[in-house]
Amino acid sequence: MLLTLNEIFEEFADLDRQDQSLYLLELGDELPKFPDDARTDENRVHGCQSQVWLTTDVNGVGDDATFTVNADSDSNIVRGLIAILEASYNGKTAREILAYDIDGVFQRLDLQQHISPQRRNGLRGMVDRILKLTRLHLVQNGDTLNSAENSTPSHSPRAASLQIANTAPLDAIAIRKQFPVLCQLLPSGSRPIFLDSGASAQKPQCVIDKEREVEEQYFANAHRGTYQFGLRIDQEFEGARSKVATFLNAASPNSIVFTPGTTIGINMIAAGWGRKHVQPGDEILTSVMEHHANFVPWQQLAKERGATLRLIPLKANGRLDMDQLDSVLTQRTRIVAITGMSNMLGTINPVRELIRKAHAVGACVAVDGAQSVAHLPTDVIGDDVDFLTFSGHKLYGPTGVGILYGKPERLEEMEPIIFGGHMISEVRVEDSTWSAPPAKFEAGTMPIVQAIALGTAVDWVQKIGIDTIHRHEQMLTELAMQKLAAVRGITIFGPESAYRGGVISFRIDGIHPEDLAAILDQQGVFTRHGHHCTMPLHSHLGVSATTRVSFAAYNTADDITALMAAIEFAMKRLMRL
Ligand code: PMP
Repeated sequence: MLLTLNEIFEEFADLDRQDQSLYLLELGDELPKFPDDARTDENRVHGCQSQVWLTTDVNGVGDDATFTVNADSDSNIVRGLIAILEASYNGKTAREILAYDIDGVFQRLDLQQHISPQRRNGLRGMVDRILKLTRLHLVQNGDTLNSAENSTPSHSPRAASLQIANTAPLDAIAIRKQFPVLCQLLPSGSRPIFLDSGASAQKPQCVIDKEREVEEQYFANAHRGTYQFGLRIDQEFEGARSKVATFLNAASPNSIVFTPGTTIGINMIAAGWGRKHVQPGDEILTSVMEHHANFVPWQQLAKERGATLRLIPLKANGRLDMDQLDSVLTQRTRIVAITGMSNMLGTINPVRELIRKAHAVGACVAVDGAQSVAHLPTDVIGDDVDFLTFSGHKLYGPTGVGILYGKPERLEEMEPIIFGGHMISEVRVEDSTWSAPPAKFEAGTMPIVQAIALGTAVDWVQKIGIDTIHRHEQMLTELAMQKLAAVRGITIFGPESAYRGGVISFRIDGIHPEDLAAILDQQGVFTRHGHHCTMPLHSHLGVSATTRVSFAAYNTADDITALMAAIEFAMKRLMRL
């Protein structure tokens, strides 16, 4: 007989740490038999070290239907974790499952202590699968709220049919209150309407507090001293690395390299991996929608190595033309450098499909996650990403810190481009050898305080849920697209909202984007204008500049109302309507 959750809690509380680990192993013994014919690829949970299959049975109909989770693994400890999931979820309705605090269960059992980071990723994979199946059930039953709650894993364009009604589960007003900069009043007496998170997101109080805590209470250099502050700082710094690893669904924190940001991260890949692996006559594949940070390093590498820079064609709707991929992805392609989400068009690229096809011709894929990581779930294992880069400041964290994720074998192949302290194994007068990754790429003093606060930002995002943030931003995008489309003389660039994240760039006939941005600013609405570091894309679209609005978790439908009022005001002023 399977134990109830309370029985598991009670047993656990009575055991010491070592016996708790043994108990976890035994817990799976009573799992019901998992049918052999359900051990299919479709039922496999990705991201687990061991093999795991998972299905759900629905008992009853409609909203009252309850769920039974069935799963199995070839690992005993995973079977133990499955028993905990079954005890937690079985007998609950879909809504109860979605609202259930599973992290609270894990914390109460202190699973952190008993399972490795890889196992934790696998556990997350199982929970994600259960939530996905639950949402699917709601969508199939015509639940409008959850039809927006699309369950497709990371980076897949979501064909969500969104309700604009105020049904988003995220309380953006409560969230905004956590951002001091957004709570102040401008000299005009109105609050700032911040619509430029695509450039940099604001920071919640907890991130600001964390930076202060480190500076005031235990600052020291990382990986240097073994005195009390030194040990504490190492624990916090490495803790932040682990948080990022879990957030990206990386197999190990050793795949997470701290960098100063996306731009440096991409340059590290181009110079450290590209120079070694791209030979004359080879090809580098990218797209015209890339940010300069993911274009110029590859363009320069191609020139330096005598390689050819090729572009995946773009369709008129701002999506990559995947039907033409075969014409540009060839046996000579060494690396595909692609953004997860465009910072100008908002397009969400089909990263998983691109990676699968690139790997089929032996090419390596570097994903520019600067925009996608803060707005879409990321799953580096599920997508089989080779390299991924992003910046802390777009993920509610500090400036000056970013992440370069690399598969272990890719990081092995990559050369460091910055040399100095900490990254070495041995230095002799004649030559030197390098530490294992990530240290190999972390020469000198790192942005320690910022990295630790980035960990806090990741916690903050995880607590809300990146899925929830994504759905909220999609709702805002859909709403803004509808309202903007009604503006006379407007051109909105990029795809329909189902294929884009929370970024909208547009032009209004007869108004220069710079003039528009100035008047919006006077109205307390902060947008960006210009080429947004995408000159090749702007040339391709035949425009020199656009106005861009971009959303984050703290934006509300009221912000869009304010934007529309400010646009109307600007049109009256600038066009003398
Ligand atoms: N890529 C994309 C898609 C971006 O939006 C940005 C920032 N606007 C970058 C790269 C560069 O990021 P950073 O300036 O933080 O290095």
